Amino acid sequence: MRAPSLVVALLALGPATTRAGEATTVDGYTADGRASYAQLSQRYQSLATEHGWVQETIYAYPDDPDLAIRAWRTPARGEALWIIAGIHGEEPAGPNAIAGNLTTLVRMAKDGVPMVVIPLANPKAYRSNWRYPNTPERDWRKGGYSVGDAEYLLPDLDKGTQPRAAAPPGPETQALTQYVLQIAATYPPRLVLDLHEDELSTECGYIYAQGSRQDDDPVGAEVIRLLETTGIPIRRSGGTRFGESIAGGVINRDDSGLPIRDGSIDELLASPRVFVDGVQRPGPSAATVIVVETPAFAGSQFALRVAAQGAVVQNAPALWRLSTTTD
Ligand SMILES: [Zn+2]
Repeated sequence: MRAPSLVVALLALGPATTRAGEATTVDGYTADGRASYAQLSQRYQSLATEHGWVQETIYAYPDDPDLAIRAWRTPARGEALWIIAGIHGEEPAGPNAIAGNLTTLVRMAKDGVPMVVIPLANPKAYRSNWRYPNTPERDWRKGGYSVGDAEYLLPDLDKGTQPRAAAPPGPETQALTQYVLQIAATYPPRLVLDLHEDELSTECGYIYAQGSRQDDDPVGAEVIRLLETTGIPIRRSGGTRFGESIAGGVINRDDSGLPIRDGSIDELLASPRVFVDGVQRPGPSAATVIVVETPAFAGSQFALRVAAQGAVVQNAPALWRLSTTTD
């Protein structure tokens, strides 16, 4: 993504942004049109203060206690809709789309749908427009780690008899993945929507589908249809740059034709088995996990990107109805 120029950054800097807690705005991370961390937090918090949802702090940064990964869940427990966004800090459309469509989620909660929402999973990187929380490098081979890296909880790729990694790569990663595992016990994921952007794509969107229904899932096709109605071009066939095949805009196998095992929080939510303290036990086993990947157009067209992801959030009730526990 292009770095915003200083002029653009200054133009985007309104007088209100100089108040305490917003000092990092001078770095220009809101220049692409995204709401500030404080603005997003305030909107998400309305779920708790105005609508009675449970707000939980998953991880607060010790050197900056205002900066925290938070979750909001409905008081009603049970088979749930999970919505996650902002795993990668340079993919702001999802967190902003959720903030702009909270009324849909509030309505669903009133209709009795249990929900867990983690709308800004990587606030530190969001504030820096970085991908990872610990480095501006977007290449993971240069030391960056994902806040959603769940490999230490997932079976190894060979025999599946031990954890894939010895330990979580960072403190926020540990907190987030532990939280997900713990909450999944009382809010078993039936449908997971994880909103990403493909920051290298200037052309087409696509989605990943995981979970026990990955081969027969009407939700994926509907998400693709929704993205298309907002004007996002879809890569319907061919392959990704990672060698995965795309069918109808949906990727549900890796480059070897096996189920996707990328070590992500999405794999964790879909996984039938996990390792806790070295002991194998049943995993969250979500029926449907959809990872939405819309093009980031090199950091431009922010309104279109938010509208595309907003269409997914607005239609969460219909996607929920399409999803089922068993196939
Ligand atoms: Zn991403």
